[in-house]
Parts: sequence; C-alpha cells; structure tokens
Amino acid sequence: MHNPFDLTGKVAIVTGASTGIGQGIAIALAKAGADVVGVARTSVEETSREVVAAGRKFLPIQADLASTAPIQDIIDQTVAWGGRADILVNNAGIIRRADAIDFSEKDWDDVLNVNLKSVFFLSQSFARQLLKQKSGGKIINIASMLSFQGGIRIPSYTASKSGVAGLTRLLACEWASKDINVNAIAPGYFVTNNTQQLRDDPDRSAAILGRIPAGRWGSPEDLGGAAVFLSSSASDYVHGVVLPVDGGWLVR
Ligand code: NAP
Repeated sequence: MHNPFDLTGKVAIVTGASTGIGQGIAIALAKAGADVVGVARTSVEETSREVVAAGRKFLPIQADLASTAPIQDIIDQTVAWGGRADILVNNAGIIRRADAIDFSEKDWDDVLNVNLKSVFFLSQSFARQLLKQKSGGKIINIASMLSFQGGIRIPSYTASKSGVAGLTRLLACEWASKDINVNAIAPGYFVTNNTQQLRDDPDRSAAILGRIPAGRWGSPEDLGGAAVFLSSSASDYVHGVVLPVDGGWLVR
C-alpha cells in the first residue's frame, strides 16, 4: 500500500544539522527514507553516523549562514551529489539575550542574518532549483513560540522568528501554484544549546516548565513526526501553516 509519509528517493537539505533540533529532524527524515545534506559551521559527524545507520546517504557541507555567500554552493553541491533537491529545512538559528534597553546592533544583525536573511535567500536558491528540475518540493522553516509571542530579552530573536512566520506565509502564497509547499514548525521549549541559559536559571526554568501542559520540555525527537509530515506527500495541500509542536504551551 502507498505510504503517504514515505520519503524514499528524496534529497533533503537540513541547515544546522550538527546538533539539537536540526539533528533530530535530519535523523527523522532519514528514517522516513530521505538522503540528507547536513549543513553547519562545525562537524556534522554525529548526525552523519545516525543517517547512515538508518540506511541513507549523507553529505556534510561546512558553511556559515551568517552571510549569503555559501548559499548557491549549498544547492550546487547537493545537486552534484544527489542529482536533485526535494526538501529544505531552514533550521540553523542563533539567539542573543540582553535587555532591549541595552541591546547592541551587532546582536541585532547577527541574529537577523542567520535566522531570517539566509532563510529567504536559501529558499530562493532552492526554489530556483525546483523550477529548473521541473518538480515540486517542500520548504520547512523553523519558527518559534516567538513567532506568536513577544518574550523578553531577545528582541532580535523575536523579530527574526516573527519574520519567519510572515515569510512562510508570503512564500506559500507565491509558490503554492508551483507545487512548492512552504510551511513552518514552531517548537515550544526544547532541551538544546539554544535554551541552556534558560534551563540554567532555576526561576525561569521552573516557570517555563510549570506552563507546559505536557509537563516536560521537548526533545528533538518530538519534532520528527511534524517534519516528516510537512516533507511528504501527506501534506501536499498544506500551505503556509506555522505548526506549533509545543506540548500545549500556546493553548495554556
Ligand atoms: P542549537 O542546539 O544551538 O543548534 C543550532 C544549529 O544551528 C546548530 O546545528 C548550529 O551549528 C547551526 N548554526 C548556528 N549558526 C549557524 C551559522 N551561522 N551557519 C550555519 N549553521 C549555524 O539550537 P536548536 O535549539 O537546535 O535550534 C535550532 C532551531 O530551532 C533554531 O532556528 C532555533 O531558533 C529554533 N528553536 C529552538 C527552540 C528550543 O527550545 N531549543 C525553540 C524554538 C525554536 P554550528 O554551530 O555547527 O554551526
């Protein structure tokens, strides 16, 4: 029987695949059948081992998405290696914490460059490749609770993730007719490097946990199902959603 979640034969690019949420998504896509291109500044060796253990191929690409310089090369290397590109997961992201009153221009630019500017231009290069290969494809942006809420002490992060939600909707409107699905996943509070400072602060940590109806922080494996769904033919008529995977945080 046809399995609408099967990703066999698909080539998926996952940015920020060295650790955390990107690593979890890369492994989930591989388990669903996709070959994976893992992009990060540092080693993606651990992710590579897991993808290969799942029986899929893995291409590591070392690139710094703080600038748009490596973007076309990421697409070119992917196509040279896998013959095509089908899925793009824009996951690489950073956060800087300081009171808004003291926030620096560098912390603004650094975060916006990785979390929003490179997301747009990588999506653009990827979509051009899809048009060239005359196929549809799937783009999954990693948004955040800060795509819906304000938060505190993270002004550039909130601006970037609110921007990611808007960009997801715009690209969905422009590209749905080209069989390109653009959607986002909004993770709640997950145990990764990104939330280390929050979890190190006993008061913030307890306050966050106390508001999560599921009663626990998320772990990267919790996002696999949503990522496979949005990467697969099961979601072919789903466009422009920002899907919370948050243990119920937003409905509290
Ligand atoms: P993480 O553990 O800090 O991982 C971030 C990933 O992004 C790493 O693989 C990192 O790899 C990569 N990265 C960072 N800067 C990069 C750059 N300039 N160029 C290329 N790759 C870069 O954080 P995470 O929690 O897994 O975050 C992944 C995504 O989920 C981010 O977009 C984050 O905003 C989002 N998110 C996280 C949470 C959470 O609770 N953890 C909640 C909502 C949304 P290298 O350091 O090797 O480059």
